[in-house]
Formats: sequence, structure tokens, C-alpha cells
Amino acid sequence: MAFIVQKFGGSSVANAERIWRVAGIIADTYSENNDIVVVLSAQGDTTDDLIEKAKEINPRPSKREMDVLMSTGEQMSIALMAMALEKMGLPVISLTGWQIGMQTNSVYGNARIKKVSCDRIRNELDKRRIVIVAGFQGVNKYDDITTLGRGGSDTTAVAIAAAMNANLCQIYTDVEGVYTCDPRKVPGARKLEEITYDEMLELASLGSQVLHNRSVEMAKRYNVNLEVLSSFVRKPGTKVKEVTKMEQTKISGIAKDTNVARIALIGVKDEPGVAFKVFRVLAKQKINVDIILQSIGHDETQDISFTVAKNDMEEATAALREQQDIIGFRDLSVTDKIAKVSMVGAGMVNSSGVAVQMFEALYAAKINIHMISTSEIKVSVLVNESEADRAIQAIHAKFFET
Ligand code: ASP
Ligand code: MG
Repeated sequence: MAFIVQKFGGSSVANAERIWRVAGIIADTYSENNDIVVVLSAQGDTTDDLIEKAKEINPRPSKREMDVLMSTGEQMSIALMAMALEKMGLPVISLTGWQIGMQTNSVYGNARIKKVSCDRIRNELDKRRIVIVAGFQGVNKYDDITTLGRGGSDTTAVAIAAAMNANLCQIYTDVEGVYTCDPRKVPGARKLEEITYDEMLELASLGSQVLHNRSVEMAKRYNVNLEVLSSFVRKPGTKVKEVTKMEQTKISGIAKDTNVARIALIGVKDEPGVAFKVFRVLAKQKINVDIILQSIGHDETQDISFTVAKNDMEEATAALREQQDIIGFRDLSVTDKIAKVSMVGAGMVNSSGVAVQMFEALYAAKINIHMISTSEIKVSVLVNESEADRAIQAIHAKFFET
């Protein structure tokens, strides 16, 4: 007997047939005498549809009311799933974020979990009930509904697993696990048996859509036993853990992120304090900056370029232009026709030359690199968006297909 948290994503519960399939998985887990908490996302594209609906009424609704609206998708899923299990004759109860004491801060639309008081869940489990919880939602200190950011149901599941010391947290999705690269783009991509938290964290923040990155952060911090697997085929998925057996290749995955824009400040004064002045402007607007490149100065000026998320591009350029005289730069150029391509691997730490192989693969494919950034377990390059798919294919072929 174990305590298992199972999370099912939107595609896994998209329609009645899929709800029944998932109900079957839950029923089997329950019949093996496990305590089971199920976390659900909204069905299919429900969350997107809700956002569209809001726009029909008010193109700029308050974030508070958006959360009231968006949280309804998950509430629908849990009721339907509970009804399916009821019909199978199983003891089950659905609970909202508020009912399970999922307390968050007050950042509507992107709230962070502060505490999960699990008394209610514990009580229900003690009655041998299957507990079905609405993912993605919480409640702040004013008792208002909050949501955890798009894809946040993964984080709900991991938070419950961490708070209640679950033996296992399974994230069921529509792919069979974590792949070396997006299998839709790279046919040779293969499923990984295991991956480290750090690698997964990099991949999650680099545009691989498999897991919400805060869920991985939390899993690492609380050492949650995590597994990513398919709700469509019953096969072992990918285990996410602290250390893995090192595979021959030094890298685990390649990811592409097209949600990137590059801003270049040209002719910036070459003197102390300019970086501070530039990035202070962005910090004030709560805009995250990713890769930064500062060129060698010439004629007393230099160029500073950096990347931001696409949807921050306009706000960032507007804020910088407003401060042009204070910062002191001649020109500003901006493009969102670029993409970040990254390769990740814990095995890179001890081996020089991995980055060189990546650059060689891009050279052979005649793809130009605009910016490079590295960490202990990652190399990212910025390339033209139109060449990004070819880039991941070339890098994948170099490391995994020879
Ligand atoms: N339904 C929410 C979303 O689409 C949360 C989730 O699916 O994890 O972002
Ligand atoms: Mg998701």
C-alpha cells in the first residue's frame, strides 16, 4: 500500500471517453489498496476558451475576475470525474482548491503556493475515499480565488505530494514521458527512462511543455518521487529524480523556445552603471531578462542586447525608450523572429567539447548563431525562428542519431 498522487492533464480528460479511461486507471490504483489523490486540469482547451469568452466581454478584465473565471474549468473536470467513479460504485469526493486549503499569495494569474493544509484530504483518505482535487487554483489571504499560472496543475499535484509525503507523484499526459527532443519535430526522438530534477527544470523552463517548471522546482526541493507517463498507453514513463544512471550521451534533451524576443541597445555609453540603469527599468516592470550579451566597447560606446519573453517585448521597449536619455543609448532595435535552442545534460559538467559539437552541428546545417549562453548543465543559442526546427534536428542527429 502506498500514497499516490496522480495528475491528469487537459488532454487526458478532454471528453467522456477519456474520462472513463482515466477513471479506469484511478480505479485500478485504488483497488491495489493505495491512498490516492487525483489532481485534474480543465478539459481540453477549456482554459483557452474561457480566456476567449472573457475577451468578448472585456478585452482587459482584472486579473482577479480572470481567476474567478479560469478556475471554473478545473471545477468542471473534478465533478465529472467524481461522477464517473461514483457510477463505478467507488467512494469518491471532489474538492476545490479552497476546500483543500491551498493557500497562495495574491498574485492573480500567477500565484505562488504558500501552504497546503491537508486536513480535509487526510480525513477523506481515512474514510477510504478517492479524493479528486481541482488543479491550478488556490485561495489567497482575502479568501479570493487565485490561479497558479498556465500549466499550474502540475504544481498543485507536486505541492500535495510534498505536503503529504506521498510515495509517488505521477503526472499523466498525452505523451509517454520526457523525450530527448519534441517527437513531433524530430522523429528520431526517444523516451528517457530517467532524468534529473535539474535537467528537467532546464528543459521545462526552456520551452519543453511537459511539466510546469515550478512543479519541478518544488519536486526537487522536497525530493518528490516524480514520474511522467501517458494516460493513453499503460507503460512506464520517465522518472524524474536527484541522480540518474549516466547514459552514454552527455546530454539528455534538446529544447526549442520560440517565445523569445531580442532587444538590442546600440551605442550605450561605456561607463559604470549602465547595465544597472538598463536592467533596473525592466526589473521595475517585473520583466524577466534571459540571455544578456554586452559587446566590447569602441568609441566610448558599446552595445547591450538581451532577450525577454515575447509578450513582454512591447512593454520592455516602451519602458526603455522612455528612459533613453537617462540610460544614454543611441538606438534600439528589436525582433521577435528568433528562437532559443538549448541542449541540457548533467553529464556536460565534466566534459568540455560538448558545446563545440553543438556549434559544429549548427555550422554543418549553415545556421547562424546570434547569442550564446551556458551554464553547468546547459548550452543555449539564439537562432532565427525560421531555422529553429532545423537547428534542433541537426543537434539531435549529432548527439543521438549516430
Ligand atoms: N487548465 C490550466 C491551463 O490550461 C492549468 C493546467 O492545465 O495545468 O493552463
Ligand atoms: Mg500541462
